[in-house]
Amino acid sequence: MLKCPVCGTRKESREYIEAYVSTFNNQEYKLYHCKTCDLQWWEPLKIIPEFYEQEGEEGYAMFHIGLREEIGENHKMFFKYMPVKYGRLLNVGCGDGVFLKEAKKAGYEV
Ligand SMILES: [Zn+2]
Repeated sequence: MLKCPVCGTRKESREYIEAYVSTFNNQEYKLYHCKTCDLQWWEPLKIIPEFYEQEGEEGYAMFHIGLREEIGENHKMFFKYMPVKYGRLLNVGCGDGVFLKEAKKAGYEV
């Protein structure tokens, strides 16, 4: 018996949406959905750190080292379509901060 990590609703372990077997460690991960709070999560919740350290592609490594220079397409759309080009901007989950760096250049208080 599992519990939703957010609301604690009990879930039968056989009630998963899909299963995925990692080619890295042959670990099986199962995707669950909580009907109470609508959360989806993978079990097991923890992933081994070596996955990111050894399997990460160059872009991932650059991202975490903080050497990425160019913003992603989603951020380009922000600058293209956001009607206000100044003011205070909070980026929750800012990753390597490259978006905030560009926003600061554009005139936002980040
Ligand atoms: Zn829940």
